[in-house]
Amino acid sequence: MDSIIDEIKNRLDIVEVISSYLKLEKVGSNYRALCPFHSEKKPSFFVSPSRQIWHCFGCGKGGDVFKFIMEIEGVEFKDALRILAKRAGVELKPQDPRILTKKKRLYDICEWACKFFEKQLHESKKGREAKEYLKQRGISEESIRDWRIGWAPETWHGLSEFLIKKGFKKEEIEEAGLAIKNEKGNIYDRFRGRIIFPIFDINSQVIGFGGRVFGEKEEKTVAKYINTPNTPLYDKSKVLYGLDKAKTEIRQKDACILVEGYTDVIMSHQAGVKNVVAVSGTALTPYHLKLLKRYSDNLLTAFDMDIAGDSATKRGIDLAQKEGFNIKVISLPEGLDPADVILHHPEDWKSLIEKAKSILDFYFDNAFSKFDSKTPEGKKEIAKILIPVLKRIPNEIEVSHWVGELAKRLQVKEEAIYQEMAKYQKEEEGFEVEKEQVKEEKKSREAKLEERILCLLVRFPELFKEINLESLDWFSEKPKEILKKMKEEKENFKGDGLTPETKEYLDYIYLKSEVDEDFPEEKKNAVEELQTSLKELQILHIKKQLNKLSDQIRLAEEAKNQEKIQKLMEEFNNLSKKLIEFK
Ligand SMILES: [Zn+2]
Repeated sequence: MDSIIDEIKNRLDIVEVISSYLKLEKVGSNYRALCPFHSEKKPSFFVSPSRQIWHCFGCGKGGDVFKFIMEIEGVEFKDALRILAKRAGVELKPQDPRILTKKKRLYDICEWACKFFEKQLHESKKGREAKEYLKQRGISEESIRDWRIGWAPETWHGLSEFLIKKGFKKEEIEEAGLAIKNEKGNIYDRFRGRIIFPIFDINSQVIGFGGRVFGEKEEKTVAKYINTPNTPLYDKSKVLYGLDKAKTEIRQKDACILVEGYTDVIMSHQAGVKNVVAVSGTALTPYHLKLLKRYSDNLLTAFDMDIAGDSATKRGIDLAQKEGFNIKVISLPEGLDPADVILHHPEDWKSLIEKAKSILDFYFDNAFSKFDSKTPEGKKEIAKILIPVLKRIPNEIEVSHWVGELAKRLQVKEEAIYQEMAKYQKEEEGFEVEKEQVKEEKKSREAKLEERILCLLVRFPELFKEINLESLDWFSEKPKEILKKMKEEKENFKGDGLTPETKEYLDYIYLKSEVDEDFPEEKKNAVEELQTSLKELQILHIKKQLNKLSDQIRLAEEAKNQEKIQKLMEEFNNLSKKLIEFK
């Protein structure tokens, strides 16, 4: 087991793995990012390439590359092992009990279902018709293979029977969202007679499906699109279609284009614009935004948006604005979506992207074209649309710029606009990201002092002589183990031979000492700080002992053990005196 873990760790670089999830910024020999596990404005999440660890100094989470995958994917160790093994090209035996989890079964079902649908598209009669239709819509053979587009036959049990033959249970097929159970407890296929777009997670594993009807059925069917319902693998409010293939490009271009449909994403990739993703079967949610924030702060939307309405689409964009994204709006020709534009003139898509307007310009232009800014009624309507938009701008200078612009164009005083803005009720907060589970880490004063002392010693190794044997008792286990080793090995200290937990703690200390900017410049000040920290630690240690003693005294009194009381009291008094000396 350990050898596999080591092999995977050796083959993977933690910086590379983490940077496929987060936008990392180099600082000195380390990297930092906004922590994905708690809300923060300043980055306190660090990655150390030399130690192959990560740590967030805000919420206190940290560890190795496996721990990172477990946290960010919300999976158990076995799943993280599987994900990283695949990434490292290390083969795990498929039946290895170490990687057999419930999620793994669901991933397998989705993968088999995807293969089934693909085969149907390429080999069945109706499937080939669907393929022809896709090609007419401009999707190339290569894209069909890359995006693994398939066909769900017009049967009730085609897929379920196939999966049962592969050894899956009815319950599992239902749980993967591929079948529906009827009143008699029998299952039937959810996707029938539809073109199938598999939906991938960030590691390109199939987790769900979108199904679309085509041809004459398009007119007759109520639900043109259906999606996998929420399953343990798939949650539409958290998945962005195409992100696995777009993430590198999004980071490189530092911009993400949001479109509405699967075919828009595929066609855009085909046309060479690859920083494109789509929401799948839902409006933009706070989770999507959080996910995107890891890659870029710049969003371009190609949504059909009614600025005066209160659509889910508009709310999503408004929320993105409030979250501090720079948003640009790509204006499409009336009635066309990106896939239509690309089908006829792929180059037009690129120039539309270049011509995208900032969200403020977009709102201004639309509001002024919709209403007559010369009439009082028109002015009021325009202000009604734009004031909420202005209220959402996080930057005051920007606010002032746009207020000036609005005042000029409406020919009213700026104060009037500010007054209206003040009146405008704070927007309903019902759309906020649900409260973060992870809070700022609370550490005891002792733990903080221990960390500080160790960091000082790592930074200024010559200060080590300030630590004497007596003071070792004031420390808790891990720091004590490190200090003992330091004392033994002096300048040869490398942290070898420590217990794994202590080694992990030491790695954390090294990283902290590297990234913490708040260190004394001069040795003299470092000595002072070390001494005051040691003194405080000693005081806390004494107080702890006094508490312990008073408990023991209470017990001795209950037992009426006079002799013991006497002895303990003496100890107590001596310690108290020592404490007073410090003050
Ligand atoms: Zn954090």
